[in-house]
Amino acid sequence: GRTVHQIQSGQVIVDLCSVVKELVENSLDAQATSIEVRFKNNGLDTIEVQDNGVGISSENYETIALKHYTSKLSNYDDLSSLQTFGFRGEALSSLGALSKFHVITARADEAPKGTRLDFEASGKLKGTQVIASQKGTTVAVEDLFMNLPVRRRELEKNIKREYGKVLGILQAYACISTQARISVSNMMAKGKKATVFATKSRQSTRENIANVFGAKALPGLITMDLNFEMQPTKTYSQLSEPENKQVRVLGHVSRPTFGEGRHAPDRQMFFVNTRPCGLPQVAKVFNEVYKSYNISQSPFVFANILLDTNAYDVNVSPDKRTILLHEQSTLLDALRGSLTELFENQDQ
Ligand code: ADP
Ligand code: MG
Repeated sequence: GRTVHQIQSGQVIVDLCSVVKELVENSLDAQATSIEVRFKNNGLDTIEVQDNGVGISSENYETIALKHYTSKLSNYDDLSSLQTFGFRGEALSSLGALSKFHVITARADEAPKGTRLDFEASGKLKGTQVIASQKGTTVAVEDLFMNLPVRRRELEKNIKREYGKVLGILQAYACISTQARISVSNMMAKGKKATVFATKSRQSTRENIANVFGAKALPGLITMDLNFEMQPTKTYSQLSEPENKQVRVLGHVSRPTFGEGRHAPDRQMFFVNTRPCGLPQVAKVFNEVYKSYNISQSPFVFANILLDTNAYDVNVSPDKRTILLHEQSTLLDALRGSLTELFENQDQ
């Protein structure tokens, strides 16, 4: 069986985006090949994430929603290696305190029977009930922030913008996930269910992009596979010295000479070792190189930066979205050079 470990961390559920991100990452950690994200009323009423992953074993029912319990670490050293998205054991416990939420789960040997788990606000297991379920896990979150009136009102007031941000995050997961299909739907109060987008499992990132942004996004894109070496200007601390200084940037970017106005949407998605994250400095490099072609529209960018895990730090913020690149300026310079070269070669 899997063991559950107690660790310390900060608050991870701060808004609608963090709910969705934590639940999708749990599904990816559970090796799901299908993830369905269903919103009702832009997520104000419910957020439901259903996967076909390994499910939760009954020995963990009591602990999954308790603070700081995770089944994902076999020892504390795992914290630095980040094989899984989760590791803080905080998402479900926060949801318990911030919403009405329940879980339905079935392991392979239990399906088509599954178990519904209900929790108290403290994360203590309130009750279980046997119900029909395919293999996998569904987490349903109702009335997010219901017990925090100020935050609930904020959410209601800003829901359009929040929902837009959520879709941006889901687009990034859907485009990078070549193993799992990700589908997103939203049901408005009076309307019918609308599928926002859906990818398929086991397809390329290019096919994912077509599913998410439409096939018309593809013709203007260049496939990017940049390889360069980081040449540190200052010395690394001995602990963080990366063994491998090779950097690879894989992805798709607008071809600058394709013609203004005909480009893919100006969406930009960045990943470090396949993990979605915000990288404003890297975005700036892409935009600058692109601008030198006198095009006002900013480029579509899908860039997965593959580099040694010692070359950056993800544990700087609770939401793990902020990444600290240790040798940022040398990396950016090398990226700028290599991107310029890619575009120049395209022109010939
Ligand atoms: P963490 O992901 O950091 O371990 P969470 O609070 O997100 O913490 O989840 C707690 C535990 O619940 C996980 O360690 C895992 O055992 C279980 N769990 C949550 N979501 C899923 C899922 N979709 N599939 C399987 N197990 C899950
Ligand atoms: Mg988690």
